[in-house]
Amino acid sequence: MSFVFPPIKTPSIAIEGSSDRFPIRRIFCVGRNYAKHVKEMGQDPERHPPFFFFKPADAIVENGGKVPYPTLTKELHYEIELVVAIGKELNAVEVKNANDGIFGYAVGIDLTRRDIQMDAMRAGMPWDFGKAFDHSAPCAPIHRVEETGFIEDARIWLAVNGETKQDAKTSELIWNVPELISILSHGISLKPGDLIYTGTPAGVDAIVAGDVISGGVGNLTGIDIEIV
Ligand code: MN
Repeated sequence: MSFVFPPIKTPSIAIEGSSDRFPIRRIFCVGRNYAKHVKEMGQDPERHPPFFFFKPADAIVENGGKVPYPTLTKELHYEIELVVAIGKELNAVEVKNANDGIFGYAVGIDLTRRDIQMDAMRAGMPWDFGKAFDHSAPCAPIHRVEETGFIEDARIWLAVNGETKQDAKTSELIWNVPELISILSHGISLKPGDLIYTGTPAGVDAIVAGDVISGGVGNLTGIDIEIV
């Protein structure tokens, strides 16, 4: 058997302190998971069940990468997020056991074509074209959980051209990491290689070509990208 054209090279991300790489299977993203961000998006900040959307695995951009300003939008937004890397298969895992499935953590940016997302939201249509486009998932190297411990109350921040735009704590997550893992694993089988972008705090805004975006979560290696 041979393929009619070469299959995709497995997308992967660097692991801090190692030459091994983390192969990416799927990218799950959580919507509306910090109350102040839910409010700035004009939504009800009550604790509704979390919902998820997806990005293609090959939307990953490595740290230091240049992101071409995407097509179809006049309103590209940054969203700094704590990214959880899954290292085990998890099926209907209980919250108290959910942290066992964590391989590690990274800092990511959920790049969003906000105008397309909002048009879709108003029309009751899927968000995909607002969220799941080429280069839409920058991610810094993954730190193994053995090194970091479980991240529950870290500063999460983002700056554009050196000016701080987002600044919050991961303890403000409406649905925390083990809860998200548990809920996801009741809906699908989580697999090694899955990434979960856990949601963004308040302060999202538009960026343009030439902007330099940097961000961090606690002591994790920060993310740095440039829009070109
Ligand atoms: Mn997001």
